[in-house]
Amino acid sequence: MSLPRPRRIALISVHTSPLAQPGTGDAGGLNVYVWQTAQRLARRGVKVEIFTRATSSGDAPAVGAADGITVRHVVAGPFEGLDKRDLPAQLCAFTAGVMRAEAMQRPGYYDLIHSHYWLSGQVGWLARERWGVPLVHTAHTLAAVKNASLAEGDSAEPRLRVIGEQQVIAEADRLVANTDTEAGELTGMYGADPGRIDVVTPGADLDCYTPGSRAAARAELGLDPDATLVTFVGRIQPLKAPDVLIRAAAPLIERFREAGRTPVRLLIVGGPSGSGLEKPTALIDLAAGLGISDAVTFLPPQPSTRLAQVYRASDLVAVPSYSESFGLVAVEAQACGVPVLAARVGGLGVAVADGRSGMLVDGHQIADWTTALDKMLSDPEQLAVLGRGARDHAAQFSWEHTTDALLASYARAMDSFADTASLRVAVGPQLLRATRRWRRRRSR
Ligand code: UDP
Repeated sequence: MSLPRPRRIALISVHTSPLAQPGTGDAGGLNVYVWQTAQRLARRGVKVEIFTRATSSGDAPAVGAADGITVRHVVAGPFEGLDKRDLPAQLCAFTAGVMRAEAMQRPGYYDLIHSHYWLSGQVGWLARERWGVPLVHTAHTLAAVKNASLAEGDSAEPRLRVIGEQQVIAEADRLVANTDTEAGELTGMYGADPGRIDVVTPGADLDCYTPGSRAAARAELGLDPDATLVTFVGRIQPLKAPDVLIRAAAPLIERFREAGRTPVRLLIVGGPSGSGLEKPTALIDLAAGLGISDAVTFLPPQPSTRLAQVYRASDLVAVPSYSESFGLVAVEAQACGVPVLAARVGGLGVAVADGRSGMLVDGHQIADWTTALDKMLSDPEQLAVLGRGARDHAAQFSWEHTTDALLASYARAMDSFADTASLRVAVGPQLLRATRRWRRRRSR
């Protein structure tokens, strides 16, 4: 028997548009995930409609973004200057816009809802009740996980978010987790029913992120052809810990310089996001204070083809994050044949094969990071071996696999939703939820 497949899905991404340039503000891995999987779903014949908040008066209500993909801009609150933390107050306006868009279509227009991040989950929860279709939810990040390993100076996620996440996790028909670790967090920290979780590994665009000439990439980017280059790519925020890399590299930069060895340089790619250490100016000041300004280059967020050149230009990519549900940058760099030095947190333990495609560091002690950098940069032959391992390791992560696994999750959601449809009508949603809770307790 063939699996059920949605003909048209409503994909909800309230706080950030898949059309935005990732690497700054609220745009990052979630945007890439939504856009890459939407394209592949569309190629497999699923019509995709993406609902996102309008952030400019020039955003048309509906944009044909690619074959089979419509981006719907919903007006909810001011176009600009609205902080992500203030978005819960706009969820009612956003949901009303989503309801209105659906009401303009024939009944049963969408077969399934897939929400990304908890704010979208809240919208998806209501749409599910209203439209009578299943809700699949991907958290991307979890407040309780982030709060358990906060960067210095970072502010804790509010309780309101944890409660909002709990609600969505209890209501969604299926939960998509990036890794087994995240699945464990969903069950352990949020009491999710393990039977409703699908572990779906994210991917990388393996056509874009390919190995290539380091010399050519450096020439294109105007980088020193001879230096040893360590690169950070991502939104500049305390959670991503670019400051840890700068502090850890500083003594090495000095030591290599004094010993007349090949100079070490840092490349920091990305734009400001969030609060605290996020401003590149703070990082520029930090580098100046450490006396290594001349060894650090900053680049604004780069589109993917140019980002591939950034990776190719690098000897090593560092991902020192305090928390990371997966870490797309780590996989993209490895797909370009570049080893990764990463923190042993969250999904990075899956994204990087310790000792084969890079190295994982426990904690964020600067001395430990200096030692790890020294170890990797002092052995170019081993670095080249890790580079080959990196390419092999990354080959398993493709958006094609991710999309196949998402379709399987959608099929399960549609199946279980159909199974419980008659029960829902007979007993009402509240009793159904109580039954689910009882089943969950029994399965523990
Ligand atoms: N990115 C980009 N240009 C940049 C910096 C980042 O396109 O200048 C993309 C990068 O390719 C990756 C995503 O932003 O796909 C960041 O995802 P990741 O999972 O590493 O971090 P997140 O933003 O989800 O915390």
